[in-house]
Amino acid sequence: MIVRSALMLSLVSTVAVQPAMLTAQTASPPRAIRRDIPLTNAIRRAMEGGTRDSTGRPGPNYWQLQTDYTIDARLDPATQTITGAGTVVIHNAGPLEMSEIVLRLDHNIFRATVPRGFSVPAEITQGMVVTRLAMNGESVAVNPEPPRNLTNARIALPAPIAPRSSATLEMAWHTKLPGGPDGEGHRMTQRWADTLFQPTQWFPRVAKFDDLRGWDINDYLGPAEFFNNFGRFDVRIDVPAGWIVSGTGVLQNPEEVLTATARERLSRVLESDETVTIVGPDEVGPGQATASGSRLVWHFVADTVNDFAWATAKKFVWQATRATIPGKGPVPIHMVYLPGRADRFANAASITRHALEFYSDLWAPYPFPQLTLQDGPSAGMEYPMVINSNQGAADHETAHQWWPMMVGNDETWYGWMDEGFNRYMNILSRADQRGHAPDLDGLGQQYGSVSGDEWEPPMMWNANYAGPMYGFQTYSKTPMMLSMLGGIVGDSAVRHAMSEYTTTWRFKHPSPWDYVFFMNNALGRDLGWFWYYWLWTTESVDGSVQRVTTSGSTTTVTVRQDGQMPSPVVLTVHFAPSGPPLRPMPNARMLDDSTAIVTWPVDVWFSGARTFQAKLEFGARRIEKVILDPGRRFPDRDPTDNVWPAEVAAGRR
Ligand SMILES: [Zn+2]
Repeated sequence: MIVRSALMLSLVSTVAVQPAMLTAQTASPPRAIRRDIPLTNAIRRAMEGGTRDSTGRPGPNYWQLQTDYTIDARLDPATQTITGAGTVVIHNAGPLEMSEIVLRLDHNIFRATVPRGFSVPAEITQGMVVTRLAMNGESVAVNPEPPRNLTNARIALPAPIAPRSSATLEMAWHTKLPGGPDGEGHRMTQRWADTLFQPTQWFPRVAKFDDLRGWDINDYLGPAEFFNNFGRFDVRIDVPAGWIVSGTGVLQNPEEVLTATARERLSRVLESDETVTIVGPDEVGPGQATASGSRLVWHFVADTVNDFAWATAKKFVWQATRATIPGKGPVPIHMVYLPGRADRFANAASITRHALEFYSDLWAPYPFPQLTLQDGPSAGMEYPMVINSNQGAADHETAHQWWPMMVGNDETWYGWMDEGFNRYMNILSRADQRGHAPDLDGLGQQYGSVSGDEWEPPMMWNANYAGPMYGFQTYSKTPMMLSMLGGIVGDSAVRHAMSEYTTTWRFKHPSPWDYVFFMNNALGRDLGWFWYYWLWTTESVDGSVQRVTTSGSTTTVTVRQDGQMPSPVVLTVHFAPSGPPLRPMPNARMLDDSTAIVTWPVDVWFSGARTFQAKLEFGARRIEKVILDPGRRFPDRDPTDNVWPAEVAAGRR
């Protein structure tokens, strides 16, 4: 605040030599507060078309693509390569004709010359090599090098896919899973030597196609994540016998791939919270770890998921336990890990069980039939029903089953709707694990120390291009925003609205506009100003107590806001322990006999003033201390000037 005031003084003295400008400045309000939500052309078109609207619920004409995959994949450990073939049935539920499709070939990020963010592959490969494409049986030219060598490819179709019809894309491909010691960033290393594989983004995916932007052609650059269609996966995975396969979905053929012993052990998993060993460290190879044979085909089916990931190893230990989903019943939690790494999974079962049960209660019941933790070089990544995680990230990665696996956000563009919401729910989960109420005080205020950084992209800026503050934009800022929201409407109201949002957009694809309109309606408030400053700008509130004066029985607290973001005015007033009785104020609530919280709505700033005279009409009792924003919810560059008298502030520091 001191530095900023000095800067403002120097600006004023510069302006002072230009009288015309000075007049213009003093004539206009010092702060123009924007109170509406900016609309882009994409959301405006969607609103005109009735697919989205200002209720924040799916519009009457809402539609989304569905893609159903049937895949046969074979892993060859000697060449570390997956060879796959299969079909995707594309259900074009919308009113738009498709003359082309876009395929996501994310493994092209392992090619030598592809653009990347802060990610370094463990190994350079040929990327995703598509060997055959056909649409409704008619061969389609395979472009072996997608234009500009990117992670997605536009495929021209022999005949367009009509609105509200389906088409079947056949494809064949192979891709090598990168390994080695030098990978940096998630998803850049997918195997350990030739004995453990964690295939992800391992098949050509039909890109997202929606009412907002048509085909999603955001490149996969590494750090930012995905945006996928929902659909059904029917996947057969061919691996050497003795290798255990885990993955998205439910295993369809246990009698073909598991031993009778393993199947018997599995049958007891849902009976208690104990951890059952399905395949132990000493059970190795065909006939012991799995059914006998030379190779086995593991068949998985998953309904209504937006991706499919799996893992396999020459020697996995397999353990399982259960979580009891409120209103639904028990579901299995599986864990597959290398025998020497059991210590990393010692607490994984209890952490994951807590996460599944707590988040089910918080937002909406866990919708899937199982969850699996997979060991490997990727130890902090999420897929439907699968987390590549040990106990370290188990709570966070499990939370991703709600977003993006249930509420299908565009993680590439708006990572905050994925990682940011996740960080917020992790705070609530951690408090619950420790048996106390969550404390979101202080978080909102912290943003004041970041606001103004030239590197910070606004949250609405495409996270794929967020730069060095990607982590802050995508992960850290959202809990700060929701801390401030709780400071305005109450934390339980935020949780309740978020829960309704989760249920409303279950297995659908909300945009940020849907979210903010939904929250406004669920909370019964016009929070346009709140969303505008948090999502579209990098501004803060920067409040302070300027002075406190008493005249008769009225005490006036002069509150100032130097930032562009407004906030309600919340004061804690400490009275002398004795004296004349306290008169009630309609906007005050007593915390105890000598402490009151007094609140004025954000509207007091909408006229443009930068100072507000908060009148305290409690009678003649002496006021000893006043604190602005006692919950520390509103972004503030310098919180030390929020206390009167100032020496109290100095003493607190
Ligand atoms: Zn995450």
